[in-house]
Amino acid sequence: MKLIIASNNSGKIREFKQLLEPLGYEVLSQSEAGICIDVEETGNTFEENARLKAEAVYKLSGFSVIADDSGLEVDYLGGEPGIYSARYAPEGGRKKKILEKLEGVPVAQRAARFVCCICYIDGENPIPETVTGVCGGYIGFEERGDNGFGYDPIFMIGDKSFAELSDFEKNAVSHRGAALRKLAEMLGAV
Ligand code: IMP
Repeated sequence: MKLIIASNNSGKIREFKQLLEPLGYEVLSQSEAGICIDVEETGNTFEENARLKAEAVYKLSGFSVIADDSGLEVDYLGGEPGIYSARYAPEGGRKKKILEKLEGVPVAQRAARFVCCICYIDGENPIPETVTGVCGGYIGFEERGDNGFGYDPIFMIGDKSFAELSDFEKNAVSHRGAALRKLAEMLGAV
């Protein structure tokens, strides 16, 4: 069965392929499926944005589709950057902006979480279904580690940042890993 990932992010597509191909799906990226759109994230929640992306690609393809939306929520900042994680500041300045806003804040008040919502639309029965994965941790006091991407160097789990974990270790505890496992369970049942 063909399944299109509503994204052109190569890292995400690799993770989705690793999980879904063993379940018998032929996984195609948006560009491999010949779909060139950049859906505007106008929703108010991760779930709404994942759904907007999945619906747009489903309408153009008619095949089963998966889309995800993810981000970081920092309690001390009232949940910021949240759905604006990818647009919080210019690429190089996002982690610094958070560290500066939390300057002098003690560790007990630095709680944060990553959230990942995945929306699935089945080509034969096109009712959008969403699963969510969450990973709780806290914001560190400096950038640490070279692995990963985005906010990984400032997001701490225990005494290590996400950027100090291997891909395998990160997948085992991450928001995306958790959402992907729920998705696999759901698809296994389809
Ligand atoms: P989107 O899901 O492609 O809209 O991206 C959300 C933004 O959240 C990305 O630009 C990243 O900065 C951030 N983000 C989401 N997941 C992670 C993660 O696992 N590590 C670090 N940053 C992440």
